[in-house]
Amino acid sequence: MYCNYCGKVIQDDAAVCAYCGVRVGASVARKRLVRPRQGRKIAGVCLGFAEYFDIDVTVVRLVWLIACFMTGIGFLSYPIAWIVMPEEPLLLAEPLGAQRVTNP
Ligand SMILES: [Zn+2]
Repeated sequence: MYCNYCGKVIQDDAAVCAYCGVRVGASVARKRLVRPRQGRKIAGVCLGFAEYFDIDVTVVRLVWLIACFMTGIGFLSYPIAWIVMPEEPLLLAEPLGAQRVTNP
């Protein structure tokens, strides 16, 4: 694959570009349309789309809200996306309990 930043050819399974040091593996590994467990407002649908398409979650929410009030499509598509999109696996979420112990 190619590094998105410097454009050089790097290992397919590389997590960090050997030339410029930019993290490349994380975003590639997470190209699944899922509802993240952290940072969500309602069901994580907008956040999931934002991470999938690599755009600002605020933009997704704004567009979705505008679609709701202009066309009504958003009202229908949100619950549908909620049902269809799988939830992010629990293993990827940070252990909240452990964090609470270390940070009183
Ligand atoms: Zn690079």
